Amino acid sequence: MSDDPETGLDPKDWAAFRKTAHALLEAAIDKMEQAREGRVWTPFPADMKAAFDQPLPAEGLDDSALAGRLAELLPYGVGNTHPRFFGWVHGSGTPQNLLAEIAGAAINANAGGRDHGAIHVERQVIRWCRELFGFPETASGLIVSGTSLATVVALKVARDVRLGFATRKTGLSGARLVGYASAEAHACNPRAFDILGLGADALRKIPVNDRFEMDTAALRAAIAADRAGGFEPFVIIGTAGTVNAGATDPLTELADIASAEQLWFHVDGAFGALGILVPDLAPRFSAIARADSLAFDFHKWLHVNYDAGCVLVRDGTQHRHAFTDRPDYLQAATRGLAAGNPWPVEYGPELSRSFRALKVWSQIAGFGTGRLGAAIAENCAQAAYLAGKVAADHRLELMAPVALNICCFRYVGSDVEANARDALNEEIVIRLQERGVAAPSTTRLRGSTVIRVNLTNHRTTTGDLDLLLAEILVLGEDADVRGFAARNRT
Ligand SMILES: *Cc1c(COP(=O)(O)O)cnc(C)c1O
Repeated sequence: MSDDPETGLDPKDWAAFRKTAHALLEAAIDKMEQAREGRVWTPFPADMKAAFDQPLPAEGLDDSALAGRLAELLPYGVGNTHPRFFGWVHGSGTPQNLLAEIAGAAINANAGGRDHGAIHVERQVIRWCRELFGFPETASGLIVSGTSLATVVALKVARDVRLGFATRKTGLSGARLVGYASAEAHACNPRAFDILGLGADALRKIPVNDRFEMDTAALRAAIAADRAGGFEPFVIIGTAGTVNAGATDPLTELADIASAEQLWFHVDGAFGALGILVPDLAPRFSAIARADSLAFDFHKWLHVNYDAGCVLVRDGTQHRHAFTDRPDYLQAATRGLAAGNPWPVEYGPELSRSFRALKVWSQIAGFGTGRLGAAIAENCAQAAYLAGKVAADHRLELMAPVALNICCFRYVGSDVEANARDALNEEIVIRLQERGVAAPSTTRLRGSTVIRVNLTNHRTTTGDLDLLLAEILVLGEDADVRGFAARNRT
């Protein structure tokens, strides 16, 4: 026991701490100001790996040494802050969001419940999301790490509603629940089925049409076949913006089928749902307003710094019913710090939760839907521009129609053997990444490896796309790359 404040973890010299913190802030801002320069991705060097392979320290570093270690990490992100990062679906972040992170870290709130600022900020964000997607005032929502967790939350509500909430205690008891999503749906959907004890196979993969949208005739047939086979259909999952090609399922028709069949209608709108911010695109996403639940991300097309996603549930009472479980030490009060009902913990699996809502609020409040939507519209125009350039060049082949912000194509050259194309395109992408020039990713479409350029990047310019194509053409001709492809033909 000691009355000595020095035994705590606060700085002993606040003036020195301020200096150290300011210097690190400068370094962080420098990185963001220079986001357009230099390499896209830089592999983590061997000496850095070694520096992060040390025994557990009994003695700590002083603040300035620690800040040095943090600053050393700045160059080694995944590359998504660079304008030529085109891989997977990553948001590119904003410097402005740093402000929210600073304030949020200082507040250090646990947003699981109780009555304090974070709770009210999160409610504001959820109200905004309700308004954006046309959900009623009785809808509930929760900010979570991302669409993967949002999906688990949404599908748990759907499952419990179908089985009666008693199953929260008694389990599935042999219920043969099945659901439907397109063959292009994200892997987080079958994973949620797995986590919820339904088994990934219980999510039926419905074939897609030539635009990679769910084939609704096949959906109707699958529902009928399952009912005939003694299964219990409970959910249809529509995707707004598939991860492979940016396709959006016919959401209005899915909503109609779900209502006719009395099934829960869930939408995976991870990035694509935000297309609703673009007036020209909004009609494609308007049926989201009919969904029973929606999962989407703030960290992708709204560029909130990682991580933040959201689940909205049309019937807030059902949502709460699926998660609420407050032991004595978490009882609500009407006054004092334990007031502020309902608590977020009643809407999801986490008790302790970070103040993610702050950076989401800050992004929306700071840019408004106008600027955020304009950046989304720009990305869609860029994907169409890229597709136009690809279509005009006989050495390249467009592999999927551009519906939104993703352009999939491949290098075919004039003389590349068909069975060497997959390896060639894979190698082109790896070399682009290794050279630090650009970072698209690859995927498989209809049995072929394709170069996949995803645009959820507010820093990308047309010049970046021109440079990407020029580099792909150079690599496609490169004897070394060709040789590699020839040796790895399939
Ligand atoms: C990214 C993505 C997900 C998963 O979201 P996370 O935020 O990574 O958990 C789900 N569905 C689609 C369509 C996605 O693009």
